[in-house]
Amino acid sequence: MSFSAFRILAEALTGHGGWKPMWREPEPQARYDIVIIGGGGHGLATAYYLAKEHGLTNIAVVEKGWLGSGNIGRNTTIIRSNYMLPGNEPFYELSMRLWEGLEQDFNYNAMVSQRGVLNLCHSDAQRDAYVRRGNAMIMAGADAELLDTDGVRAMYPFLDFANARFPVKGGLLQRRGGTARHDAVAWGYARGADMRGVDILQNCEVTGFLIEDGQCNGVETTRGTIRAGKVASCAAGSSSRVLEKAGLRLPIESHVLQAFVSEGLKPVIDGVITFGAGHFYISQSDKGGLVFGGDIDGYNSYAQRGNLPVIEDVCEGGMALMPAIGRARLLRAWGGVMDMSMDGSPIIDRTPVNNLFINAGWCYGGFKATPASGWCYAHLLATGKPHPVAAQMRLDRFERGLAIDEKGAGPQPNLH
Ligand SMILES: Cc1cc2nc3c(=O)[nH]c(=O)nc-3n(C[C@H](O)[C@H](O)[C@H](O)COP(=O)(O)OP(=O)(O)OC[C@H]3O[C@@H](n4cnc5c(N)ncnc54)[C@H](O)[C@@H]3O)c2cc1C
Repeated sequence: MSFSAFRILAEALTGHGGWKPMWREPEPQARYDIVIIGGGGHGLATAYYLAKEHGLTNIAVVEKGWLGSGNIGRNTTIIRSNYMLPGNEPFYELSMRLWEGLEQDFNYNAMVSQRGVLNLCHSDAQRDAYVRRGNAMIMAGADAELLDTDGVRAMYPFLDFANARFPVKGGLLQRRGGTARHDAVAWGYARGADMRGVDILQNCEVTGFLIEDGQCNGVETTRGTIRAGKVASCAAGSSSRVLEKAGLRLPIESHVLQAFVSEGLKPVIDGVITFGAGHFYISQSDKGGLVFGGDIDGYNSYAQRGNLPVIEDVCEGGMALMPAIGRARLLRAWGGVMDMSMDGSPIIDRTPVNNLFINAGWCYGGFKATPASGWCYAHLLATGKPHPVAAQMRLDRFERGLAIDEKGAGPQPNLH
């Protein structure tokens, strides 16, 4: 079933009886060529690109809950490629380019909106750092613009420019950045993978691995044993718990990140703004709600709910940046579990167990990475070789001293 204006018109005139479920509910088969653990954005994108780009369709995506119940349906939907280090920036720029063609590619409306992402700076030193980052972005083929205070004021006059403690000195703008509808991304990839023959198995939790002579030959699940030529973990915040069952201890800590949505307001913010003197980022959804977030909770947790001190911290950031937000009422808040790596950068690699692969360490920035993560993980699984833009995202980089420490925060997952 493909979507088009003609199709919508035809269905409208015939009582909408022709729409079909967007993916099947198949029973698990005894064996697949590849089993992907996790029906989040990255698992589904991997299955989609394996089928579409590499012609591999004997694949199952096993999801312990319902499709999109994890972070793919919980994030604040920001997409951007404003990284600096060579181990990261080309990867995120590939992702940005895939976002730009995604809706045509998988024939689904994911509401990709390149409304611009503006990182504010509040000191001369921070502006220097943004100049450096902007230059690195441009060298990797991305777009970047440095704005002065007046440039920021012209875009967002309601910000607190007179704030003596955090004066707005300018900002780094990526016009091609923006937002996308998070769960539509999961649905679009799921539909595209299913159409090509991939089995999506919901309510199917992986409870163990079939490891024989150092080789992974499948998984134990709540719906029975499934044998596989390759097993690819894509479990985001649960990565350490899942791969512990294969005897692996990961360089990852899990922390909760919360998101907040205000009551619906008239259009006021037409892009994404991030505060540079604290951790606060905000955009406005098409329904009018202000969508915002900030730091992770400081302690480790696998609970999908957060705590009050972080809510207070996030709201303080909001008030310092745009005092008018104090008049808006908060409508909803929720939490998701982040797979925080030791250097804040992701891992797409083999593991020490033969035929067992890992995709993890996305921290709180994995939504924007979804297309490139699926693309590069599919490349690794299909060809056995890392994709060039993900070549530094190795699992053993921490013991080899090859960290990709974008923030310069050191081996402190909660600070990245
Ligand atoms: C509040 C919040 C705001 C965020 N904001 C942004 C943002 O603005 N921009 C951005 O780029 N990123 C953002 N992120 C991060 C981003 O959402 C994640 O990095 C990304 O979604 C992780 O990849 P995923 O979609 O595959 O994860 P998930 O959707 O979590 O997928 C993992 C899946 O694995 C499943 N699973 C776990 N254990 C098992 C098992 N044993 N068996 C089977 N299945 C299992 C889970 O149920 C889950 O569905 C945010 C995250 C949160 C929580």
